[in-house]
Amino acid sequence: MANHVVISDERCKACRLCIETCPTHSLEQGSRLNKSGYQFTRFVQNGCTACGLCFYMCPEPEAITVIKDDGKSGE
Ligand code: SF4
Ligand code: SF4
Repeated sequence: MANHVVISDERCKACRLCIETCPTHSLEQGSRLNKSGYQFTRFVQNGCTACGLCFYMCPEPEAITVIKDDGKSGE
């Protein structure tokens, strides 16, 4: 599976720090609200390099998980 990021819908507080820091524009604000009323971020596959910048920028514990390509073919 390609490099990707999983955002926890309920932990995200929509501060946008990850969106603004991502060098590949692989994150965007979603249109749905979580239970706390935040328009949580969603991942869009746009050449994510698994650099981890979004993870380091995010102030919310466990809101972002970065998953690096395991090198196997296929999704
Ligand atoms: S790991 Fe890097 S490239 Fe991937 S979404 Fe996060 S900031 Fe963007
Ligand atoms: S940095 Fe964390 S809390 Fe802020 S928008 Fe991104 S995932 Fe949500």
